[in-house]
Amino acid sequence: MEMRLASIQTRNRGSIAGNVCHGDPAGDPAPVFIALGASLKLSSAKGDRIVKIDEFYTDYFETVLQHNELLTEIQVPPVPAFTGTAYSKFNIIQCDMATVGVAATVTLSGKDGVCKDVKIGMGAVAPTAKRALKAEDVLRGKKITDKLLNEAGEAAATETEPISDIHASADYRNEVLKIMVRRMVAEALSQANKA
Ligand SMILES: Cc1cc2nc3c(=O)[nH]c(=O)nc-3n(C[C@H](O)[C@H](O)[C@H](O)COP(=O)(O)OP(=O)(O)OC[C@H]3O[C@@H](n4cnc5c(N)ncnc54)[C@H](O)[C@@H]3O)c2cc1C
Repeated sequence: MEMRLASIQTRNRGSIAGNVCHGDPAGDPAPVFIALGASLKLSSAKGDRIVKIDEFYTDYFETVLQHNELLTEIQVPPVPAFTGTAYSKFNIIQCDMATVGVAATVTLSGKDGVCKDVKIGMGAVAPTAKRALKAEDVLRGKKITDKLLNEAGEAAATETEPISDIHASADYRNEVLKIMVRRMVAEALSQANKA
């Protein structure tokens, strides 16, 4: 899954753990890790705990991290057979943060093309990066068609709390999100069919 993130200078200085812990809802890595089903190991002098990334964020720039904890591992489970992944963000300036970001992972049952599992991570459309659970429900267990892709986009747009700012209005973000969900699931599906 390609992640187009900032400039070369920013990529060389910033760390993935720092980006994840910063909790910016427009960050690129969080939706990707959500779509990959990642878990985070949070460590302190008292021991470790594992938190699923979709339970890590609580509000704008807020996480469940305690003051005595560090993120010490990002655990990404092995990708099953017949799986495809995709991520893209919509923004005006190439190196800028996402106006909307969407990541998708699609796993097929086999050559029958039935969607066995799907995870969709959304960025910049709510106070935190989050999973599009209703959109996933539209697709799981079915053979994905254009009609279902449209329905998934519509469902995802009901799971958001977008803001209006200098980059885009809330309504515009939701419209872009619908298209991005369709495109990213379609791209992940295409890769899964080739896997
Ligand atoms: C010009 C510019 C463009 C950018 N464009 C993008 C972009 O396109 N996409 C994108 O996603 N981001 C973008 N960013 C954000 C940037 O990627 C993040 O700020 C960076 O990744 C943070 O990493 P860091 O290592 O510097 O973290 P820091 O700034 O050092 O840390 C961020 C926060 O996390 C905490 N922290 C850091 N590491 C840990 C840890 N291991 N455990 C617990 N807490 C920790 C710190 O205490 C701090 O509160 C951009 C930033 C700039 C300046």
